[in-house]
Amino acid sequence: MCDYACWFCKETIEEHDAKAVYIRVTNLWFVENLQPSQEFQAHSECAKRNLSAGYKFDPDDLMNPQ
Ligand SMILES: [Zn+2]
Repeated sequence: MCDYACWFCKETIEEHDAKAVYIRVTNLWFVENLQPSQEFQAHSECAKRNLSAGYKFDPDDLMNPQ
């Protein structure tokens, strides 16, 4: 069993949060495929609330990749 802590609120992300997100952060200017990165997880609601300041982010958009 994996325990994921939310990047924003630090609480554990439960499996029932089906829209929870995975966030990979890399340097903007590196173009190589194997560049260093850091990964974070977040509740769907925390991601929606914290990532929508400049761009309307909706975890729903990640549920049907078509
Ligand atoms: Zn959270």
